[in-house]
Amino acid sequence: MTYPDTAPRSQELFARGRDVTPGGVNSPVRAFRAVGGTPRFMASGRGAFITDVDGRDYLDLVCSWGPMVLGHAHPEVVEAVQSAATRGFSFGTPGEGEVLLAEEIVSRVPAVEQVRLVSSGTEATMSAMRLARGFTGRSKVVKFAGCYHGHVDSLLAAAGSGIATFALPDTAGVTGAQTNDTIVLPYNDISAVEAAFEAHGNDIAVVITEAAAANMGVVAPRPGFNAALARIAHEHGALFVMDEVMTGFRVARSGWLELEARADSSWAPDLVTFGKVMGGGLPAAAFGGRADIMAYLAPVGPVYQAGTLAGNPVAAACGLATLRQCTDDLYVHLDNTAAKVGQLVSDALAAAGVEHALATAGNLFSVFFSPTAPDDYDQARTQQAWRYAAFFHAMLDHGVYLPPSAYEAWFVSAAHDDNALDRLVAALPAAAQAAAQAHPEIAQEFV
Ligand SMILES: *Cc1c(COP(=O)(O)O)cnc(C)c1O
Repeated sequence: MTYPDTAPRSQELFARGRDVTPGGVNSPVRAFRAVGGTPRFMASGRGAFITDVDGRDYLDLVCSWGPMVLGHAHPEVVEAVQSAATRGFSFGTPGEGEVLLAEEIVSRVPAVEQVRLVSSGTEATMSAMRLARGFTGRSKVVKFAGCYHGHVDSLLAAAGSGIATFALPDTAGVTGAQTNDTIVLPYNDISAVEAAFEAHGNDIAVVITEAAAANMGVVAPRPGFNAALARIAHEHGALFVMDEVMTGFRVARSGWLELEARADSSWAPDLVTFGKVMGGGLPAAAFGGRADIMAYLAPVGPVYQAGTLAGNPVAAACGLATLRQCTDDLYVHLDNTAAKVGQLVSDALAAAGVEHALATAGNLFSVFFSPTAPDDYDQARTQQAWRYAAFFHAMLDHGVYLPPSAYEAWFVSAAHDDNALDRLVAALPAAAQAAAQAHPEIAQEFV
């Protein structure tokens, strides 16, 4: 099945891009491989809408994969960035902005006593793994199938569920040596974690998990799962790292941990990673946690970690201005809006007779074309993802920009008001019909 391409300027740029960049993109999901067709090259954004180079605008339900929590080109954030930029871009020295941003993070997140700023979520998790290994003097890392922690070599292994599978790398260029010390377990399976610690407890440095999994579609942790990970890790002298790169400052004032602490505040992770929202759309990320662990980082400790642009003044100003607008009211709005969007989508699909399940974790959500929301990666992959391609393109044709993959979370922002959602309401009936009439012709590759 092919879709009408009504984006001549995007097509031209895509062709030129492919000449000079592999696949024409700088991050694979942007190439539309999972849905087919031509990626739309965006030229501008304002509030809840983005406009492509052909002048078509879209209600944006990707929000740059999370960072644009206030909507695009928020006036106060633009002003903060402009003001920082006029003072110079980068000095390679410490500056006031990075102290302010670190203070904001530490004051929001009780589990974080100290924080180190970096430039991407990948760097944050990579550095947290190195720090955990340096602190414990152990080598093995436990991660969960379907959890994404950026393109860190040792964490690019999601292969094999079952009990304590030693991971095979799932990308070329990552060697067995790099994933030899990685143990991949099924998400939400506490007994698999217990078995892994039974077998390798003295060698495991760290357990890392997405605070709530949202890179295989949204798969919430079962109640008590994260708490059990912390308990088991600590019983064996290992550290517990919560990756809040996606959830941090998005599902609550601090992140997912805050939602869990409302029910059970008896435990905490040792380290937490952040990115996305905390940069407000510019490259800023962080890892932080217990002060005694962070003291292992250079220049005070033996674990080396550095960055030419870490704590960059313009990025720090953008992140700080964004976080300062992230008030309790904002989270109420995000929760309500996410619930509203999910309900609208679910109602439309039901009306068209399309089997689906709305999966949620706080205000993160995604739609699975399967009878129930999954608990783990194996279940997630059983969905009829080919229906999503048809749904996606019908939405795109009606001016709604969804994630170009069935395995990604959807995002809303402060700017997604009822007015903006009118666009969604208008688009849904045709898209639900398209999903109903879809055939599994477009091969779905979940990367
Ligand atoms: C996006 C993401 C990352 C990687 O962040 P980048 O800034 O893309 O390197 C890591 N962990 C999680 C949970 C993410 O969602």
